[in-house]
Amino acid sequence: MRIGFFGAAGEVTGSCTLVEVGGCRFLVDCGMFQGGREARSKNLNALKFGGDVRGIDCVLLTHAHIDHSGLLPMLSVLGYRGPVLATPATIDLLQVLLRDSAHIQEKESEWAVRHRRRRGGGTVGALPPLYTVAQAETALKLLRPAAYGVSLQVAKEVTVRFHDAGHILGSAWLEVTLGVAGRPRRLVFSGDIGMSGRPVLQDPEPAPADADLLLIESTYGDRLHRPLAETEDEIVAAFDRVRHTGGNLIIPAFAVGRTQEVIYILADLVRRRRLAPLKIYVDSPMATAATRITWEHPDLIDRDTHELIAWMRRTPGQVKLEFVADVEGSRALNQVRSGAVIISASGMCEAGRIKYHLRENLPRGECAILVTGFQAMGTLGRRLVDGARQVNIFGRPVAVRAAIHTVGGLSAHADQAGLLAWLRGFRHPPRNCFVVHGEAGASAAFASAIQEQLGWPAPRLPRLGEWFSL
Ligand SMILES: [Zn+2]
Repeated sequence: MRIGFFGAAGEVTGSCTLVEVGGCRFLVDCGMFQGGREARSKNLNALKFGGDVRGIDCVLLTHAHIDHSGLLPMLSVLGYRGPVLATPATIDLLQVLLRDSAHIQEKESEWAVRHRRRRGGGTVGALPPLYTVAQAETALKLLRPAAYGVSLQVAKEVTVRFHDAGHILGSAWLEVTLGVAGRPRRLVFSGDIGMSGRPVLQDPEPAPADADLLLIESTYGDRLHRPLAETEDEIVAAFDRVRHTGGNLIIPAFAVGRTQEVIYILADLVRRRRLAPLKIYVDSPMATAATRITWEHPDLIDRDTHELIAWMRRTPGQVKLEFVADVEGSRALNQVRSGAVIISASGMCEAGRIKYHLRENLPRGECAILVTGFQAMGTLGRRLVDGARQVNIFGRPVAVRAAIHTVGGLSAHADQAGLLAWLRGFRHPPRNCFVVHGEAGASAAFASAIQEQLGWPAPRLPRLGEWFSL
């Protein structure tokens, strides 16, 4: 067996692993590299496995996040026509996320062309989009549903089973069984593992007792998340502040996962009378779609959330949710001066309707911004968190007078303790363990924690493009 690492090795994006066993080649994830100056060139140079992509038998997709799925259209442009297995909820989310990703690629390319023209450089050498919406549509046709817990044959003597990873809706860790020469071998790919005990999603399914090969993510392998109770206190403090000052509360949030989690937490705080009854505007077409898709998969939602939804139906005056559909509605919301609670995307404030809400509300000292997620270097969200007194929005300077609250405890990823707890499901150390999907420091720290706290042999830390024969 050979395994090649083509992304998320020493970094958190671009997940893509090629496995060759017997006569079968399969890919686990096909993710886009994101962030940083080299992302574009890395994406253009990705998927160079040696040989023809048509020689790949199938693609297994752990979940819908673009850093795990975003290069599927490129794979299909290169000629891949085989099946892409994913859970039904992942397939639903990808209809929205992959189209949106292609749309962003097209827009950025148009912008680059215009930018060159303005500088008199003509359009020669302008950047074409990585892929177009039409190419994303073609890739979406390759998706085939794989329900949790069902064994599916993907090639002769190769079966796969998807298990709930509790990370985002439809996320999975994968169990691949190879029936090679009568002695089955088990390969486990963690994908991204979620936090146990968090609202909305089910907890991750426990790991199997043993494995010949394990790939484990390590996004937060070097740290612990703050408890949910602290996050709730921070949110209550932000609400108290705007109630006194009479402004609006603006909540940038990732459309998939975070928006639904924030809605849950706010409604739950009202139910527990820590917040007064409130109306929440969700102003993002993608967040609206992601919330609809979440509700269309009630079996993937945990009991706490079902109970909260039932309470909201019984007491309709307590929490009102309004999904803003059209641009006119969004503009009208821009004009509201006081008392509005608005959840909008994108989560790092780089695109989407959130930018309009920030432009209107940042200069007003009576308003507050509640930052609910990780903000990458170089993003507008990061500048706000870092305390900028002035930012640029749509090319114009905007003064920052609103209060910026950062809640630290929300994450779709398990922290070090959560990851170790999941690994304790293995009764024997896997024969080969690779730590992936983390910044170099986080992966190394997690590899040490695995040795020290679980007593396993030293896991391996693969480098981009590296092959291993096992
Ligand atoms: Zn993810």
